[in-house]
Amino acid sequence: MGDEGADAPPTRTREDDVGKVYLVGSGPGDPDLLTVRAARLIESADVVLHDKLPGPEILGQIPAEKREDVGKRAGGEWTPQEYTNRRLVELAREGNSVVRLKGGDPFVFGRGGEEAEHLADAGIPFEVVPGVTSAIAGPAVAGVPVTHRDYASSVSFVTGHEDPTKDESAVDWDALAATGGTIVVLMGVGKLPAYAAELRAAGLDGDTPVALVERATWPDMRVATGTLDTIVDVRDDAGIEPPAITVIGDVAATRDRVVAFLENGESAPVGAGGREEPESEAESESDSTPESEGESESESTPESEPDRGENA
Ligand code: SAH
Repeated sequence: MGDEGADAPPTRTREDDVGKVYLVGSGPGDPDLLTVRAARLIESADVVLHDKLPGPEILGQIPAEKREDVGKRAGGEWTPQEYTNRRLVELAREGNSVVRLKGGDPFVFGRGGEEAEHLADAGIPFEVVPGVTSAIAGPAVAGVPVTHRDYASSVSFVTGHEDPTKDESAVDWDALAATGGTIVVLMGVGKLPAYAAELRAAGLDGDTPVALVERATWPDMRVATGTLDTIVDVRDDAGIEPPAITVIGDVAATRDRVVAFLENGESAPVGAGGREEPESEAESESDSTPESEGESESESTPESEPDRGENA
């Protein structure tokens, strides 16, 4: 401010003005599963940048005037990650307190890592607020513990978005099958036939229990169960769509033993035995190709970004 006259209004440098970015996990969608810190920050934020994954209940509680949707845009295209990165920096430099709200935990298949790097490169102060990841909460609310002293001593979290038959798959399904532990697949509705086959070929038993948890903790959550051999039909009959978690392993059978007394979620379970007729709407949508419409790989290019709020 050295060369300003005494009468000039005080001007501040960008550094003085710079706000802060909070990379916040929303949990799987039930507002009661927001952390206390997430709820406080959403309340006090100037701007909340979000996509669809935090779900209708949480997003519905945020005043429209402070929300910016960086998920699907009108016309069906996805906001490029570069835009979101730029917008975070821009808003912070204007002095705003910015919440970047992501489904589940911001650092689990959520591009939170990329955004953190970008903010650091731009010199923007930021904080990470962990969230309850759908990778654990999804199975849990369906009555499936991801580990169990008797059946599963390890758990792997993997993306199902990749094509397992492609040469350079980053997911080693053979190695996963060999762990003998639980496999939890995110973004795994569309490619289910491919990785189910891959796991069978790797030696997993066709009777291995599998559960699909769709929109976990949302008001319209559904659960469908089967085995490695039946789960693709189960998915199709029930019209399971993203966002959904696939949990593979003996733990998935635990649901059957506890479901009678399990009071999570209001929706009727969709099970291999007494499956409900799918709603016609869901059924017709299952004819579409989920991989192109609903699923995203966190490394994918913006052009191939997901639909239906699947990606964070
Ligand atoms: N950061 C998120 C995951 C983002 S990747 C987290 O920690 O939960 C997007 C994938 O997450 C979806 O394709 C789906 O597999 C899963 N997912 C997120 N929220 C979900 C929910 N409420 N129910 C079921 N699956 C969910």
